[in-house]
Amino acid sequence: MFYSGFKASTVEKKKATIKNYFSNFEEVSSYDSTKIDEIMKDPYMIRNKNKIKACINNAIVFKEIIGEYGSFKDYIDYFNPSESLENLLLFKEEIQYKFNYFGGITSYHFMTDIGLPVLKPDRVIARIFKRLGLIEDENQILKTVLQGQKFSNATGLPIRYIDICFVKYGQSGEDIELGLDDGICLERNPKCDECGIKKYCSFQR
Ligand code: SF4
Repeated sequence: MFYSGFKASTVEKKKATIKNYFSNFEEVSSYDSTKIDEIMKDPYMIRNKNKIKACINNAIVFKEIIGEYGSFKDYIDYFNPSESLENLLLFKEEIQYKFNYFGGITSYHFMTDIGLPVLKPDRVIARIFKRLGLIEDENQILKTVLQGQKFSNATGLPIRYIDICFVKYGQSGEDIELGLDDGICLERNPKCDECGIKKYCSFQR
């Protein structure tokens, strides 16, 4: 929920605090207004009351689903989302209306994180795909996902891996974990001279 509409880097900085408050759905589902006030006073937290309330509401929905289906995995399996594009999109529609702050991109983000064959069609990936002529407009989130699936099918690599490669290619800043100094296809001043996919790119600086 916190990633929705926010830059990933903004959320990453506060991730430990967010996880501290929202790591257990049973506990979170019972948070009351006193707890919300406590969270809102924490300077290390993203103090967005609507998002905090959404987390609590989603924990309640999550709990109800488990009560009905036995586990969240059984709920996902009920839709058989990996079997066809139709099932995948029906599952996406379901979580979008059931959970707060699950817009189009966040729903795909969540689906990527639980291992479904999609990527997160965020601004970084959409920008690179547009520059490569794979999509016509950065708002084409379904087409971005489908193009990501084609990369996965063509290479035999998990789509999550494809997602990470493109995100790191287009994200500025160092990534110590992956040993990268900086991205290449940056929003401003992309490093086209260093780019390994330059011959496929129609972007004009
Ligand atoms: S050539 Fe430049 S704009 Fe095109 S993909 Fe490479 S870095 Fe990005």
